[in-house]
Amino acid sequence: MDEPRFELAWTREEGAARAALGFRQRFGTDPVGVWAAPGRVNIIGEHTDYNQGLCAPIALPHCVYAAVAPSSDDTVRLASAQSDGDGLWELPMSEVRPGNVNGWGAYVAGTIWGMRQRLMPAPAISGYVDSCVPFGAGLSSSAALSCVFAVAEAALAGMPDSAGLRIRLVDAARDAENQIVGAPTGGLDQSASLRSAKAHVLILDFQNNTARQVPFNLASSRLELLVIDTKAPHQLNDGQYGARRASCEAAARKLGVASLREVDDLEQAMRVLGPDTVEGRRARHVITEIARVKEFEQVARQGSWEELGRLFQESHDSLRYDYEVTVPELDVAVESALAAGAHAARMTGGGFGGSVIAVVPAERLQRVANGVSAAFAQAGFAPPAFLLGTPSAPAARVV
Ligand code: ADP
Ligand code: MG
Repeated sequence: MDEPRFELAWTREEGAARAALGFRQRFGTDPVGVWAAPGRVNIIGEHTDYNQGLCAPIALPHCVYAAVAPSSDDTVRLASAQSDGDGLWELPMSEVRPGNVNGWGAYVAGTIWGMRQRLMPAPAISGYVDSCVPFGAGLSSSAALSCVFAVAEAALAGMPDSAGLRIRLVDAARDAENQIVGAPTGGLDQSASLRSAKAHVLILDFQNNTARQVPFNLASSRLELLVIDTKAPHQLNDGQYGARRASCEAAARKLGVASLREVDDLEQAMRVLGPDTVEGRRARHVITEIARVKEFEQVARQGSWEELGRLFQESHDSLRYDYEVTVPELDVAVESALAAGAHAARMTGGGFGGSVIAVVPAERLQRVANGVSAAFAQAGFAPPAFLLGTPSAPAARVV
């Protein structure tokens, strides 16, 4: 077995230098600035955003960096260190509409399109991207890519930064993913990247679009949040995500409520839906998961971290058996992390691959990483990668 691989976050200076250098090499001029937007992990509250529920993300120290300059001809031109072989991605903004944009530039041009749809000024740009957010790991590199351009656009257009502006940018970045890329995601990822705060967990409530920042300081209890990228292929575009959403909507209709958020009597809901039907099991996950986020908020406020083991286990089992979005890599990562001494572990993100988070005593980090790596080798899976999930700053200008 190879030594476990830790994916370290770049410093802001390193990320900015890489993006600016790439820009100069690609476009032959200086960028006007460099912006950064973080990936995220959700501590708890999975598949709740599109049910008007609650979730609890933090921003990772790992960011997408973009060096940007306005373009004079309303055409978007992009290059990325992560898809350098593809050459320049180029499209006039007049061509940007649902169903008409392919490739990774859709996250960027889609965000500009979303801002314009929402009557925000948003210039076309040239941009060079470099990133230490692993992609396809369920850590939301896609939303970070949209959000880094959202904050850059707002700054280039002279819009003053504010909490209110960031709420509007979440919507525009979400338009990119929902309407231009065609992924029906629910707003968690973009909110985490734009509305998080350093050393805090963001409690997002999608019923009234509010966000509360709660101090999240595991380190003072000598605990670390270990993120395990399982490397299992993560595909939300194969219809499974949409099927889960459709089941939730059907369940809400049968219960006579606008969304599953409004259900306050689980037993009654199970009598109507049937506890063993697909809709009954999907609804039970959502209803109990929303309750777990409320419990988690209290745990975070009180620092009663000993409760996390049970909450994470209940969440993971609910996603595994009722929502059916785990894969063997996620289950093995959780089980092996706990066996190696983690206090708590669960899958994070949409599932079908992606990452696991584990709360681990600082002195056991290496032991847990070794234990998970050994279990993966034993099961014949590709080696996982590890990140430290220190709650970090939201999207912002770097230079
Ligand atoms: P996740 O958001 O969990 O990382 P997704 O499949 O939603 O996974 O998004 C990954 C996609 O986002 C990539 O396939 C690519 O299109 C785009 N992307 C993310 N980061 C970059 C980057 N640095 N350069 C180019 N494209 C990127
Ligand atoms: Mg994504």
